[in-house]
Amino acid sequence: MQARFSRRRFLQSLGAAASAPAAAYDSRSAPLISSSMAGSSSGFVHPQKVLLWERTRKEVREALQSGDLKAAIVPTGSTEQHNEHLALITDAATATLFAQQAALRLYPRVTVSTPCPVGYSPYHMARKGTLTLRKETFLAYVFDVIESLTAHGFGTILVVNGHGGNHGLLKGAVPEWRRKLGVTLDAVSYGEGYKEEELATFLTSYRQKLDGELDTLARQTGHSHASENETSIVMAAYPDRVRFVTLEEYDRAGLNYESDMPPKVWEYMEPFDAQRTTNPENPRDRARQEQALLATPEKGERLIALGTRYIVDRLQQMIQATDAGRPWP
Ligand SMILES: [Zn+2]
Repeated sequence: MQARFSRRRFLQSLGAAASAPAAAYDSRSAPLISSSMAGSSSGFVHPQKVLLWERTRKEVREALQSGDLKAAIVPTGSTEQHNEHLALITDAATATLFAQQAALRLYPRVTVSTPCPVGYSPYHMARKGTLTLRKETFLAYVFDVIESLTAHGFGTILVVNGHGGNHGLLKGAVPEWRRKLGVTLDAVSYGEGYKEEELATFLTSYRQKLDGELDTLARQTGHSHASENETSIVMAAYPDRVRFVTLEEYDRAGLNYESDMPPKVWEYMEPFDAQRTTNPENPRDRARQEQALLATPEKGERLIALGTRYIVDRLQQMIQATDAGRPWP
C-alpha cells in the first residue's frame, strides 16, 4: 500500500460530496462506521439521508407513508483483526459503505439500518482486539433488527454482509426468516459481486493466482481478508483506518499464531485446529501482509463500484418482486 495518501485528493475525488466541508462529515457521521461518500446518479443527496439512525421518526414516518421509502438494508460486519495494518472495524465499515452507496443510487427508495458491528469470528481470537459473538447471538440480533423493520412496514429487506464468518450463517437462516416474516428478504456478502477473472484485470494478486504464479498455498489462499482487495477498499473510503506496515516490521514483531495462545483463547480456536494444520496460519498471515502492499486507493474505487452495482441490481429486483406481489426469490 502507499505510504501516504492525501486526504484532500481523496475528498476531491468524491465529486459532489467534497463540496461540503470535510470537517462536518467527520464530526457528524455515525460512530465508527458511517461513510461520507455520496453517489446518487441523479444529483446530490446528502449521504446521511440514507442512514436510518440519522433520521428522525417524523422523517421515517413521512417517507414510509408517501410510499417513497420501500426497502431497508441491514449491514453486518465484524470487529476483528485485519493483520497489522487495518482497523478492527473494517468489515462493519465496508458493509456499511456498500449499503450506503447502493442506497444513495436508489434514493429515496432505500434506507440503511444501524449495522451489526460484531460478528462470528472465533477463529480470529488469537489476534488481540478481536471480538466475537456466538452463532446464536449473531443470528438473534440480525433477526430482531429485521423483524423491527417489518413491524414498521418495510416489505423488502436485504442483509449486506462484509465478513466471511457471518456468510454461511445468514444464508442458512434466511429461508426460515422469510417464512416467519412473510416479506421479500435476502442476504448477500458484497464479495459475491466479484468474479475472479474480472478482479484479475486490475488486482495483481488475483492475476498472479490465475496465471499460476503464486508459489505457496499461503499466497494462494489469503485473498479475501486484509490483503490487496480489502486493503484497497479501505484506502479508498477510509484512509484514516489504514496504517503503513512494511514486511520488515512484520517479521521483526516475531508473531506466532500457532503456539502463542493462552488457554482461554485456545478454547475459541480449538474447533478450527484441523483447518490450521492443513493450511498453517503463520505463513498465511504473512502472505496477507505481503499482498496488502499491492493495494492502492484507485483499485479500491473500482472494487467499491463493482460491489455496489451488484447490491443495487439485487435490490431493484427485490423491490420489483414486492411491488408485483411475486414471491422471492
Ligand atoms: Zn475483512
